[in-house]
Amino acid sequence: MIILKSVEEFKIWRSKQTATIGFVPTMGGLHQGHLSLMEKSLSQNETTVVSVFLNPTQFNNAEDLKKYPSSIKEDLAILKSLNVDALFLPTTANMYPEGYNYLIQEQVISKTLCGKDRPGHFEGVLTVVMKLLNIVKPQKLYMGEKDFQQLQLIKGMIKDFFMDIELIPVAIVREDSGLALSTRNRRLSAESKSKAIAFAKILQTPGDLNETKSKMESLGLKLDYLEDWKDRRLAAVQIDNIRLIDNVQK
Ligand code: AMP
Repeated sequence: MIILKSVEEFKIWRSKQTATIGFVPTMGGLHQGHLSLMEKSLSQNETTVVSVFLNPTQFNNAEDLKKYPSSIKEDLAILKSLNVDALFLPTTANMYPEGYNYLIQEQVISKTLCGKDRPGHFEGVLTVVMKLLNIVKPQKLYMGEKDFQQLQLIKGMIKDFFMDIELIPVAIVREDSGLALSTRNRRLSAESKSKAIAFAKILQTPGDLNETKSKMESLGLKLDYLEDWKDRRLAAVQIDNIRLIDNVQK
């Protein structure tokens, strides 16, 4: 696996590639959910590129960014064992040489659900994904349904900006307990984890929206939102100041 640590280095490597490229952007702290995206890309493309970049512009809360779990040594071992072809591992200064003067903004969907509780979050996400796609220039982009709203926003961006990229959605990977895998789960204490599992279980139990909400609230879960949108039921919860999101097909 080749590791490319700057935009300049990556572009030189990219200019020599002739095979089709599948791309998996991540913020590191890799788990089986990330791996399922990579495995899909590896099976559908001659070359797979993974990026690990903890994007500061999508964190509206400085504390959340500071506490975001990172495990680059373990991540490298995972990526090598999977036979990923290239890792793009840029610095913040390299990705944002101009500061944060330009942002991609969506006007409608980004203001709902997670966008309501995290102002500026999706501008940060869309901006970094646009930057990454312009650098990596993949034919296929792999993203998880875990971040369903993000997936829809990226889909819209690709369409509205006439980008020649195929977006491949990948199903949510869960623990046996039903909890959706997330890098943030590493921050959960044993007690918080059992609350997170209860949250996931209730969300996955079909039923009336208000009933689901009451069940969650009766367990003392602090919901940011619980809403039905498209074919999904989506929720965000704060457990000991750790924000978890999840969704299920209705
Ligand atoms: P992140 O590192 O959290 O930005 O996630 C990178 C990619 O992995 C995103 O496209 C996520 O939607 C996806 N992802 C994260 N967790 C899961 C999961 N449990 N199942 C499937 N995809 C996931």
